[in-house]
Amino acid sequence: MTEFDLLIDLHLGNARQGPGSDEETRRAINLARLDPRERLAIADIGCGTGSAALVLARTLNAQVIAVDFAEPFLERLGTRAAAEGMSDHIEPVLAQMESLPFTDSQFDLIWSEGAIYNMGFAEGLRAWQRLLRPGGTVAVSEITWTTAHRPDPIEAYWKREYPGIATASTKLQLVEQAGYEPLGVFFLPRDCWENHYYKPLRSAIPKFMQRHGNSDAAQQIAEAEQAEMTLYREYGRWYSYAFYIARKTT
Ligand code: SAM
Repeated sequence: MTEFDLLIDLHLGNARQGPGSDEETRRAINLARLDPRERLAIADIGCGTGSAALVLARTLNAQVIAVDFAEPFLERLGTRAAAEGMSDHIEPVLAQMESLPFTDSQFDLIWSEGAIYNMGFAEGLRAWQRLLRPGGTVAVSEITWTTAHRPDPIEAYWKREYPGIATASTKLQLVEQAGYEPLGVFFLPRDCWENHYYKPLRSAIPKFMQRHGNSDAAQQIAEAEQAEMTLYREYGRWYSYAFYIARKTT
């Protein structure tokens, strides 16, 4: 198994593959000021096993195209959607977010939780803009500094791991420069990290190790996840995901 396959296997059984919660997804939906009666075409990009896609389909009158490049995640989403009687409202699509197989103006709403960083925040916002109809809405969550100044160790860590990290005010300028009018921004609370992401992830590690016979490769992945959790415990006050909700200006 490759490192990628191992990572997918570790995260596959969980409802979320990054910080977030159904409650915060609904908060972002409210900020998007969508008409619940209007039939909406939505793309959820980097959907993982699909918690946000399910909330969108449950909350809105919507057809959700849920995109990911990891097939096992899409299969799991298909099973979850079927269990909720939502299969008619959610279509899993295997694709790369850098080259989406969609047409201009196809969507009323583009959603992406904890995934746009794979392309880069500004790059993703600019590239996906053409897929929105004029006046369409984008809602993305992105790692963001919570303050103007941070302790050196966490500054150095994120500059190494994701140099695109910035404060919300800087990110909002990128939103505007990419051709959107901001509708709202808020930080995900600690609960989204600790209870909805790290807790189930920590619980999944022992069985993951068993499945892979305590291999060195599995051990390395588990240790990296644990190191990330320790970092968050120590320095999580200085960074979080922020949700950016914005309307296409053209
Ligand atoms: N949105 C989900 C959530 O909040 O639980 C998943 C977030 S997870 C941090 C990032 C997701 O993006 C993963 O499901 C991963 O497979 C997907 N992904 C990463 N790079 C991708 C790419 N280039 N194209 C499509 N999907 C990608």
